Amino acid sequence: MTKNTSTESPPQGETREFQAEVAKLLDLVVHSLYSNREIFLRELISNASDACDKLRYAALTDPKLLEEADGGFAIHLAVDKENKTLTVTDNGIGMNHDELIANLGTIAKSGTAEFLKSVGDKKKDVSLIGQFGVGFYSAFMVADKVEVTSRKAGEAQGWIWSSTGQGAFTVAPAENAKRGAAITLHLKKDAAEFLEPARLRNIVKTYSDHIALPVILDPIADAKEETLNSASALWMRAKSEVTAEQYKEFYHHVAHAFDEPWHTLHFRAEGAIEYTALLFVPTQKPFDLFHPERKGHVKLYVNRVFISDQLEGLMPRYLRFVAGVVDSSDLPLNVSREILQSNPTLKKIQSGIVKRLLKDFKERAEKAEDYATFWNTFGAVFKEGLYEDNERREELLELARFKSTQGDGLLSLKDYVARMKEGQEAIYYITGDNPAALRNSPQVEGFLAKGIEVLLLTDAIDEFWVPTVGTYDKKPFKSVAEAGADLSKIKSGEDKADEAPPEDIKPLVDRLKASLGDAVADVRVSDRLTGSPVCLVAAEGGMSLHLARLLKQHGESPGMAIPKVLEINPKHALIKRLNGADDATLADAALLLLDQARIVEGETVPDAAAFAKRLSAFVERGLA
Ligand code: ADP
Repeated sequence: MTKNTSTESPPQGETREFQAEVAKLLDLVVHSLYSNREIFLRELISNASDACDKLRYAALTDPKLLEEADGGFAIHLAVDKENKTLTVTDNGIGMNHDELIANLGTIAKSGTAEFLKSVGDKKKDVSLIGQFGVGFYSAFMVADKVEVTSRKAGEAQGWIWSSTGQGAFTVAPAENAKRGAAITLHLKKDAAEFLEPARLRNIVKTYSDHIALPVILDPIADAKEETLNSASALWMRAKSEVTAEQYKEFYHHVAHAFDEPWHTLHFRAEGAIEYTALLFVPTQKPFDLFHPERKGHVKLYVNRVFISDQLEGLMPRYLRFVAGVVDSSDLPLNVSREILQSNPTLKKIQSGIVKRLLKDFKERAEKAEDYATFWNTFGAVFKEGLYEDNERREELLELARFKSTQGDGLLSLKDYVARMKEGQEAIYYITGDNPAALRNSPQVEGFLAKGIEVLLLTDAIDEFWVPTVGTYDKKPFKSVAEAGADLSKIKSGEDKADEAPPEDIKPLVDRLKASLGDAVADVRVSDRLTGSPVCLVAAEGGMSLHLARLLKQHGESPGMAIPKVLEINPKHALIKRLNGADDATLADAALLLLDQARIVEGETVPDAAAFAKRLSAFVERGLA
């Protein structure tokens, strides 16, 4: 069988259906990225360059793979005006039968299904799709049929994959296939512009100039072949020779991103260990940031040879949003990734990179608004460092920002400490899901009344780093749920809240306790409440209510039922009136107050029907 490029007779072979996610992605890509469809070329060149990188790496341990090398790695663009095809060819690693099916028929990216759900049918959601990285499938924006002829390095048999992008594709054997991959696009009628050398030259220059391999336009008619890009590794060029636009395009290439980089860091370390780093912090949150299997986006090169983008140890987890390239000549080439991972030089490189990044963050943190863009996007991940990176904890604490009960902006711990009241010894915080609800929580009432600032911690990770970190500037972090008793010690000038509770409250506390029984761990008089009659707090030493809820959401049982304490506000009219109530009324009121406190905490009421019945009965009595 000969290589088949005609539209009339599809190659014989097996036909397979696209995975449902691919079919959906194809549909979205074709309909939504239309206005920017020239990027298909960038994506194909990017894949071709990755394929050459992979072969170069594989050949380090198996030089035979390169036997048939034909004058080095290169990417060719070939135009056939008559047949209206554009072919992008590389001599990289290639794909065998199974890889063609797996790589071009399914999406291996973790989180794909969730992502596609989030896009829904909003076909205009370009930035979301862009962020996801459309890769190979973008070819269908300009082609109504795509053929991939490929032979994997080291294998004899070649294959041709072919599809019109509608539901199915075929895979058949291909004779005389060259090593690597040739992607032939049968251009749509309205995409003839991509047959024009001037247009191709312009696209390659714009999007792929940084590709380290030559991108060659094959001779058309009697023209000569032409290299369209600079073909030198962008990160090795001097900073002064790289434009902002080139950095951006390179960032799009390494991060598979579409947004502007929020930060670009390009430097060369010289001395005991030499390396060059070109790193980017995105503006937009990558869709899979919290996915456990998320791939790293920092590529390690040793002397311009790509090694891996999966190395643990190159970038700490809490900086996993950073994308880019690190290239060093001080790392060994011929060792496995596992051995490289534990190489002490790699650790030193990591340390150097993190140091530079944090230094830059510190500078940018001086402009509060600018830094807030970063913090609002990546703060939740960055805070993992407070928990993981003992060595840099102090530095990371300085870079962390928080919402608080004062104002809507973000503040640093330094700001917090500077605003502490006389007699205040701790940094108070409350944890929960939503800042607005936390501001209204009964737990912070007493603090608000005294003008004491409370940090609002709304990320899951906060439950973990706070206990680990313990203090900042020698001041302990203290949950408001456990700090009611501190209030009387802090001076504020507005100490109305400080009167001693009435003497006769004790019998009421005892009656409520008896009435509620096991439903609560304890009932006690509150120091913190000013406007609400009751609130629910975790028992001393118990797990915070927010953490317990988080564990439950993740399907983990927080162990034994968490004891909760019902606090009552002796100055509240309702509580005062309750003091003289008969036993039946008190029993009903106690349950109502407990359910009310649960609702305010964001918990569910265990028996909603009983709650509703009791509530209507009470209101009815009140109206009588
Ligand atoms: P991505 O590049 O983001 O992984 P793509 O959809 O562009 O996603 O490609 C899917 C996979 O197909 C790639 O990861 C790679 O394994 C394979 N692939 C694509 N193009 C080539 C090529 N030119 N040579 C070898 N493999 C390729």
